[in-house]
Amino acid sequence: MPDSAHNDALSPAQDLLSKVFGYERFRFAQDEIICQLLEGGDALVLMPTGGGKSLCYQIPAMLREGLGVVVSPLIALMHDQVSAMQQLGVRAEFLNSSMSQEEAYRVEQAVRNGELDLLYVAPERLMMERTLSMLSQSRLALFAIDEAHCVSQWGHDFRPEYIQLSVLHERFPDVPRIALTATADNATRREIVERLALGNARQFITGFDRPNICYRISENQGNARDRLLRFIHNEHEGDAGIVYCLSRKKVDETAKWLAQKDLKALPYHAGLPAEERRQNQERFLREDSVIIVATIAFGMGIDKPDVRFVAHLNLPKSLEAYYQETGRAGRDGQPANAWMVYGLQDVIMLRQMQESSEANENHKRIERHKLDSMLGFCELTRCRRQALLEYFDDHSLTQPCGNCDTCLTPPETWDASIATQKALSCVHRTGQRFGVNYLVDILLGKDNERIRNAGHDKLTTFGIGKDLDQNAWRNLYRQLIAHGLLSVDLEGYGGLHLTEACRPVLRGEQPLMLRKLVARGGTAKRDRKASQFAGKADKALWQALRDKRQQLATQQSVPAYVIFHDATLMEMVSYRPETLEQLGRLSGIGERKLEAYGDEFLGVIREHLADENAPATDTIDESLQLFRLGMDAEQIANQRGLTTSTVMNHLAKVIELGELDVREVTGLDAEVITAIRFAFEHSEEPNKLKPVFEALNGEYDYAVLRCVKASLNQG
Ligand code: ADP
Ligand code: ZN
Repeated sequence: MPDSAHNDALSPAQDLLSKVFGYERFRFAQDEIICQLLEGGDALVLMPTGGGKSLCYQIPAMLREGLGVVVSPLIALMHDQVSAMQQLGVRAEFLNSSMSQEEAYRVEQAVRNGELDLLYVAPERLMMERTLSMLSQSRLALFAIDEAHCVSQWGHDFRPEYIQLSVLHERFPDVPRIALTATADNATRREIVERLALGNARQFITGFDRPNICYRISENQGNARDRLLRFIHNEHEGDAGIVYCLSRKKVDETAKWLAQKDLKALPYHAGLPAEERRQNQERFLREDSVIIVATIAFGMGIDKPDVRFVAHLNLPKSLEAYYQETGRAGRDGQPANAWMVYGLQDVIMLRQMQESSEANENHKRIERHKLDSMLGFCELTRCRRQALLEYFDDHSLTQPCGNCDTCLTPPETWDASIATQKALSCVHRTGQRFGVNYLVDILLGKDNERIRNAGHDKLTTFGIGKDLDQNAWRNLYRQLIAHGLLSVDLEGYGGLHLTEACRPVLRGEQPLMLRKLVARGGTAKRDRKASQFAGKADKALWQALRDKRQQLATQQSVPAYVIFHDATLMEMVSYRPETLEQLGRLSGIGERKLEAYGDEFLGVIREHLADENAPATDTIDESLQLFRLGMDAEQIANQRGLTTSTVMNHLAKVIELGELDVREVTGLDAEVITAIRFAFEHSEEPNKLKPVFEALNGEYDYAVLRCVKASLNQG
């Protein structure tokens, strides 16, 4: 299609993007996908989490005549998704089993009357004859099939109802369909096309990269919990995050421990009563700064965009799982951390679990390969992101990323060949039966009964490892297991065996370079918060804006991000808009939200501007001179290219210094001024303008109040 036609088709979409969503331009292939649907074609979209898939069907659903039907398996999310759309002024509803009959009836009525732009529906609900026949009597704009990888029988999220979705194609051949997913390798993609009859769909595949996530992995040296706490304190004060642990017990302990450290940490695992689980999840979604400590039972369908970190205290069992779990961080595109510690115990346990699995040999081989890849990833000395993407067959990143620990603080390597030979021969000479602790004791020449009784103090390897300490040896054994030079026994005692792969190293034919153990506590350390917020004032404003957002969200019982995303608040902090027009230019503020919340947020910003550093004296002087020449604040503002409120700030300062009278500046009667002073004197927070502003029913603007307040502080 020629470019101009393309632009013509897109200009209403562009319009919606800025007016409704408050975004300036489309990302990735969003515009092309929208165009495809507007022209009535089908699409298969593979985009990473946080890439912006939703807009790809929301905008065409609003532009095409009729109803856009969104199929999603995530019932728990529908309410929030619909709230978010309604906040934007879009006519959206959902239908699922969680609602009462009356509610469902009301929504169906709205569908029949053609009053909706978007309907979110669970697949089993959609497949009911009642729903299908309702839809066949309605005008339909499109079908969007979200989480399309759920049709794959081999995937981890298989949903049998999804298979039936091919019916849509038969019953509604003229309605365009778009299938979307964030997790699909080539095989799953082929399955989606086949099972959903999307042979004619145009495919839009953007890579897997999540550039805003910083990947960091380090060795557990027995202080994982303290390190986690320090990490949260240093880099994620007040942030929402997820901490993954392997067992329920560890979840409970960790959550409790973090809560004792004054963090809002809540547990989540399948062993908790359903009600408590629901509540914890709800608080995580709705409140700021909640840290959820969870087993991997938590996360499917967690659509919270402002999760700032995902921390793993245990190793995931594959890179697929790692990618998916860490992927829950930073959906909003803002910087986020994927942080993990792992240690010898993890490696031994996962190896054992996998070896003792009941699966058939073929399946086992796949699992082994997956675990090997995960362990190899941990021990990498090159860019983690490049390796992660390559694992998913995405070779688009040709340079190291600069945003992972190995890029930020390249690990030192050392030639571990000789130490490895010692470690391996110790395994060999003790009969391949013993675990790491025992082997290390022998290497270090420890004098203990068990060793003496076994006669192992007579071995040639006894005491040959005194050049390294215990930690270094444990670290070495972990890496040897991770690299597959040693395997772990099946009986569960952690006995180590040599593998074929170790022979060349043992014979000295192949040198082995390994990661050096980083000194205790050392990790790539970057205080993102510090760099994000220039100073105290920024931080205070950020907090005040978040408080305002929380207050509005609670009033409407929606999650905070439904009001504004972090990114939008962050823009408010950097640009400090003073008018609705300036505010409306920020990303993420469409017309509807500007109208609903603009004044409230401007109020917060204004109050902060007033509290911030007093303006420099020469600029105050200049305003004062012009005032003495007979100009009012507005005229001065025009002349100086400032805002009126800035000039009023200057004049307030002069009042405070006792060089101008408040009546002169405000033009108010003495009586009125007395009344305002009275309000300040009786306010519970006399240093704040807002309570007084409200007590006076908003009759006097902030600039006036500031001047009166200044007159109170005078001398
Ligand atoms: P996905 O479903 O792909 O995980 P979402 O559709 O939830 O991602 O979008 C992720 C975030 O990016 C949301 O906060 C969304 O509002 C935002 N977003 C989407 N498209 C754009 C855009 N063109 N410009 C700016 N932000 C966008
Ligand atoms: Zn990197």
